[in-house]
Amino acid sequence: MVFLPFLAYTLMCIQAKLTEDELKDFLQNTYEKEASQKCYKANIAEFNYETDIRSKTKEETVTNTTLETAAWEKDIWKKYFSDITPNDYTDPSLKRQVRTLHILGNALTNATNQMTGIYSTGKICPYSKQDCDVTKEGLSLEPGIEDIIAKSTDFDELVYIWKAWRDVTGAKMKDLYKTYVTLSNEAAVANNSDHIYLKDFSDKGAYWRDDYEDPNFVQNMDDLWTQVEPLYTELHKYVGRKLKQRYGSKLDISDGLIPAHVFGNMWAQSWNNIADLVRPFPNVSKVDVDSALKKQGYTVLDLFKTADEFYQSLGLLPMGVCYNESAGAMINKPTDGREVLCHASAWDFCDGNTFRLKMCTQINFEDFITIHHEMGHIQYYLQYKNQPYSFREGANPGFHEAIGDTIALSVATPTHLRKINLLTNYTDNDETSINSLMDMALDKIAFLPFGLLIDKWRWDVFSGSVPESKWNSHWWEYRTKYQKVRPPVKRSDESDFDPGAKFHVPGDSQYIAYFLAHILQFQFYRSLCIAAEQYNPEDKTVPLHKCDFYKSVAAGDKLRDGLKLGSSKHWSETLEIMTGTKEVSAEPLLEYFEPLYKFLKNENEKYDNYLKNKPQLKVNIFVLFLTHIKNNDNGTVFSSNNETVSSEKQDKLSNDDNKNVNGGGTD
Ligand SMILES: [Zn+2]
Repeated sequence: MVFLPFLAYTLMCIQAKLTEDELKDFLQNTYEKEASQKCYKANIAEFNYETDIRSKTKEETVTNTTLETAAWEKDIWKKYFSDITPNDYTDPSLKRQVRTLHILGNALTNATNQMTGIYSTGKICPYSKQDCDVTKEGLSLEPGIEDIIAKSTDFDELVYIWKAWRDVTGAKMKDLYKTYVTLSNEAAVANNSDHIYLKDFSDKGAYWRDDYEDPNFVQNMDDLWTQVEPLYTELHKYVGRKLKQRYGSKLDISDGLIPAHVFGNMWAQSWNNIADLVRPFPNVSKVDVDSALKKQGYTVLDLFKTADEFYQSLGLLPMGVCYNESAGAMINKPTDGREVLCHASAWDFCDGNTFRLKMCTQINFEDFITIHHEMGHIQYYLQYKNQPYSFREGANPGFHEAIGDTIALSVATPTHLRKINLLTNYTDNDETSINSLMDMALDKIAFLPFGLLIDKWRWDVFSGSVPESKWNSHWWEYRTKYQKVRPPVKRSDESDFDPGAKFHVPGDSQYIAYFLAHILQFQFYRSLCIAAEQYNPEDKTVPLHKCDFYKSVAAGDKLRDGLKLGSSKHWSETLEIMTGTKEVSAEPLLEYFEPLYKFLKNENEKYDNYLKNKPQLKVNIFVLFLTHIKNNDNGTVFSSNNETVSSEKQDKLSNDDNKNVNGGGTD
């Protein structure tokens, strides 16, 4: 009933291409309202389902709503948008809206719902009872399985958990993924058929990449990787030696690859959970926010309020509505028997009033950082809510993922944590500084190759450049090439489908945005730091990584100026407003990590030299030689520098300490 006026309108002008005025009128007075309502309905249905995934009724509602929305979109596209091009119009805003409006979205309810269902209900038996009744004693990913991967140092238990998770997820959705790829490509290519002006979408990968409005996008992402790869390589090498120290003969890293199950993370995408093992100076004062949160009796709600306060200190909009449980948000894992999709997410219900976070929050530093990430999305939604419907998006998807992380870079500095009383007894010096950069690198740098390879793999799958029979081995080619990891057990192209063990693959959610965001956030951070006068590139005595722009309205203004534009301008213009340059660059990231890069390179070189010179040592100092052999077997850095040797000794002492979780990501 609601749609009657709109239908009447469509019948009147079914044939003709709309003139400039007609199109403007249609978008403002009809499309805006209809699209927002459809979006609201679809998102409510999806949110209700994701917070109660065992409910068949809610699942059916999602299916029906998605089909209904898809039918409406297709109908309206056929009538109004399929044969118009940006060049038909003169108004710049209108031209830009037409750019996205003439591309038809695609709906893939069945295959994706089934795959995410497999993923989110996947359970495995514990290592100690591998023949358990999985429905009663099975562990789910969050928090059960992730907790073991994060904390266990039992090599064989980790192998078991790593494989078991892939057996109950990826392996079970291989055929569904084939269907998904076929349907996805059909929907993408449908944009090509029987219309005058259409983008040349050869497959779903091309359709996804269109969001980035960059004809050289693939090459540009590869170039960014080339810029940051040397830093990753040094980090990987250093961490590999530390892991060797922990696992001894069980761990083979002789080919330069590290087995993927020992990084404290199911996908080896974030290495923060092994920070206590790899932190170069373990005996100096530590950033231990977890203990502070516990000691001060922080609640889940307190974490959200603290994060909100940071955003407001920059003069940005308050976000209380998004974590208000009585307004529909889910910030705690339900205890009423519902199963939910725990993966943290931020929701815009398109009505200008309803914004929600969904998260199974735990009271620790990792989740505190995740909250800032998710609130970055909410802040973006709020800032662009008055833009036309087609512009209520990030400048590109990488921007959306980068905002909260930019804020979190400031929040996670020891400087800031001290200000909000979450860090006491901490001395700021070169060693603590290297440690804190290492913590950050274990999150941000470790992530980069993973962020890049997921979509590189999917682009190949969608384009057909890799045949179905090689999907899994191609996945491992990329994981080997970029992440320099290998599977801990043999994998098979027939029975395994390891990409499916990562949420975004069954979830039909593109991933390269995270890679780009990990580069962009350092550009944004540097720019906000300069605006806040907390960083001066000319002054080498104050490094970038120590900047905290808390309470800087100037930084907030800079951020807001970009956010409020949504996608109404090409991202390069928005980037220029926010950073002063139109180009994405990894330079600020490299500037941020420069002290750590120098440290790692130096340590790795020392070790290489030690290995090279080892035979010459044997005659002269017999006792020392024996010590070195032992150290070498354990992968310890040799150094003639007394200070480093002593730090390494301390390091060995601390290896059996608890593995504290620091930092965190959400991807
Ligand atoms: Zn995000």
